[in-house]
Amino acid sequence: MNETVRTRIAPSPTGLAHLGTIYQALINYAYAKGRGGNFIWRSEDTDQARFVKGAEENLNEHLHWFGLVPDESPFEGGKFEPYRQSERLETYQKYAKELISKDHAYYCFCTSERLTKVREQMQKDGIPPMYDKYCINLSIEESEERVKKGENFVIRMKIPLDETIKVYDEVLGEILFDSNTIDDQVLIKSDGFPTYHMAVVVDDYLMEITHMVRAREWLPSSPKQVLLYRYFGWELPKLIHVPVILNSDGKGKLSKRHGHSSADYYRLQGFLPKAILNYLAQIIWNHPKGKEIFDVKDFVKYFDFKDISSQGPRFDLDKLKWINGQYIRKLKVTELYEMLVEHYTYTKDEETLKWLEDKDYSLKVIPLIQERLSILSDFKGLVSYFYMDPRHSETEAKNLLIKSGQDKDQIMVLLSFVHDEIKKVESWKTVNLHKVETEIRNLAEKNTWKTLNAFMPIRVALTGTRQSPPLFDVIEVLGQEKTLQRLNQAIQSL
Ligand code: GLU
Repeated sequence: MNETVRTRIAPSPTGLAHLGTIYQALINYAYAKGRGGNFIWRSEDTDQARFVKGAEENLNEHLHWFGLVPDESPFEGGKFEPYRQSERLETYQKYAKELISKDHAYYCFCTSERLTKVREQMQKDGIPPMYDKYCINLSIEESEERVKKGENFVIRMKIPLDETIKVYDEVLGEILFDSNTIDDQVLIKSDGFPTYHMAVVVDDYLMEITHMVRAREWLPSSPKQVLLYRYFGWELPKLIHVPVILNSDGKGKLSKRHGHSSADYYRLQGFLPKAILNYLAQIIWNHPKGKEIFDVKDFVKYFDFKDISSQGPRFDLDKLKWINGQYIRKLKVTELYEMLVEHYTYTKDEETLKWLEDKDYSLKVIPLIQERLSILSDFKGLVSYFYMDPRHSETEAKNLLIKSGQDKDQIMVLLSFVHDEIKKVESWKTVNLHKVETEIRNLAEKNTWKTLNAFMPIRVALTGTRQSPPLFDVIEVLGQEKTLQRLNQAIQSL
């Protein structure tokens, strides 16, 4: 009862860190941390053909970014080092030999040509293709002799015939497997590397993993693993298979083809790590107080496997964006400023970084658009006119202006009036700008400019767009000089 909870993720380093791996990490992290336990990351890099250089570094970087820092990992180290399976080959060899000596595994010398033939024949006969146990009765002596002579071999586990193998999953309950449908699984491949089944069992045991929490797609592998634990005489960790995140159409697991599956993509877009974690937690779990926005600390505190929803959650980008926007809204202006600097540093956007160098000015700009940001990368498009003249050619500018008010002469009168009023302002204060605003309204009324929304041409002249935060807030931040200059430019363009 008092044993320390130890959970792990065991991804294969085959590419950029997948959002599904972060989701698995979050669940494992939360379960362990909520119980004073340890969260471990082990790299299952035994498939040399699929290994991608830099994949482990990428995951390490992201686990830290998300704050899901493992207690033990290939980078953090730990008392069960090494945490990379390719560095543990001798261990698997040793345990495979143990299984052979206990008659739970055997050497197999079948060539791939023979295996293909057998499989093809079974397919023809309408039998699900499996290994035909051709080498199962070779004596250990004979096998060792052949190994010594340099023959190619693999080591296979013996699967008993006519047995019902029970797998108990903490979420799904008891699941029964017919042993006759299970292949004599290869444990050690001809290159000396272990297969997943062998390595996962040996490592989970040696690393004292108490809860094997993994994606539901691994469920079919569990009877083999249950048998291996039995063969070794080891206590089985608790098994928990959690639903995987599905593509938005509900078909298949979240993949690149249907959108974006790498954690890095979301980082580059300017999602906040806390918002992503909030999203990933709420797709499989309901907060006890019904909250939609909650800190990962709540997930750590209250999460239990029994609360996991059984359906595979569909990925919903709009929902993630909505949650992200909620997080951005709650930030203090200075916090948001820091995050923007961090974001544009990460995306190496020199232009925006240059804008942000003017911190005092940026701290005035940010509150005007904070409400409208759902991801950090929205910032650039929303604020460019604060930092540089609207990017329009002269004709474009002119057309935009005319469209904004319909009557060129009225717009001309209006903009000249605003220019003069702004010029008169002696001290650049909100109250004084409000006075200008009132003057403009009066002018519009006096001239009965019914068709003219008096503020639109001014907005277009100053920002180059028809949508902006409240006009006089924009004017206040732009300052007198820039405002006059842009009004002048607009008048000249007409
Ligand atoms: N290596 C497996 C993977 O790539 C690990 C599955 C497990 O957690 O046991 O996801």
